[in-house]
Amino acid sequence: MSLKSRNAVVTGSTSGIGLCIARALAAEGANIMINGFGAPADIETERAKIEADFGVKCVYDGADMSKPAEIAAMIKNAKDKLGSCDILVNNAGIQFVSPIEEFPIEKWDQIIAINLSSAFHSIRAAVPGMKARKWGRIINTASAHSLVASPFKSAYVTAKHGLAGLSKTAALELAQFGATSNCISPGYVWTPLVEKQIPDTMAARHMTKEQVMHDVLLAAQPTKEFVTVDQVAALAVFLCSDAAAQITGANISIDGGWTAE
Ligand code: NAD
Repeated sequence: MSLKSRNAVVTGSTSGIGLCIARALAAEGANIMINGFGAPADIETERAKIEADFGVKCVYDGADMSKPAEIAAMIKNAKDKLGSCDILVNNAGIQFVSPIEEFPIEKWDQIIAINLSSAFHSIRAAVPGMKARKWGRIINTASAHSLVASPFKSAYVTAKHGLAGLSKTAALELAQFGATSNCISPGYVWTPLVEKQIPDTMAARHMTKEQVMHDVLLAAQPTKEFVTVDQVAALAVFLCSDAAAQITGANISIDGGWTAE
């Protein structure tokens, strides 16, 4: 499969899942717009590495996914610099954990903006081009939390359930334009974000690293193994293929059995 003539925008791709998806799409020949926060020198290193490793064009846009005007400008920038936005991966996301009655209102607003509304704004801006070219792929990084809840994650669970609904609506609106819209819903994925939580939890609970991983982090995941970023990226690449042209409006779990229980 080749994505040689395609241009992809991957939000939140300066680390973790997004970076791996960006690199996997580039490996198939797609030109890439990366996005996200980080030290400028680190971002430039990753951008240049994508171009050097895969021989594609890779540009960076620093749009803040909580700012609608910046998101629209990012999609326009993709059209100006790459020619189009054929593949849109809405991946940027943050987490905050607190009981509802103590949940900071500004954190609620921020999570709804970054994890949900940003996808509305980017899809809104990208859809006209997809319709005109009669081809498109929208992939939303949702979560097992788009299907089930956990306590203390009210904003995250709400945003991810909303993202699943938005994804289905876009699928119906694009159905006769050769464009698909789907969610990928991972369970616990081994990313720097997850890895960084381990030392603190070991100290707080007087546990070994293995106990934290198996009894705390992976308590909900029947396989007792983390999902890898490569596994998530491979699914995203498959959803961009012709073989996946009839997969639309789906919410595909990649969660070691979490949501089967
Ligand atoms: P990560 O923290 O490694 O990456 C998040 C990315 O989003 C970074 O590039 C960051 O700079 C970017 N970002 C954050 N706020 C932003 C903003 N306002 N504007 C632009 N970019 C912003 O996290 P990750 O684990 O790779 O998570 C990526 C996505 O996958 C998220 O949507 C997350 O909810 C989802 N997810 C993660 C897991 C997991 O276990 N890691 C599980 C299910 C779903």
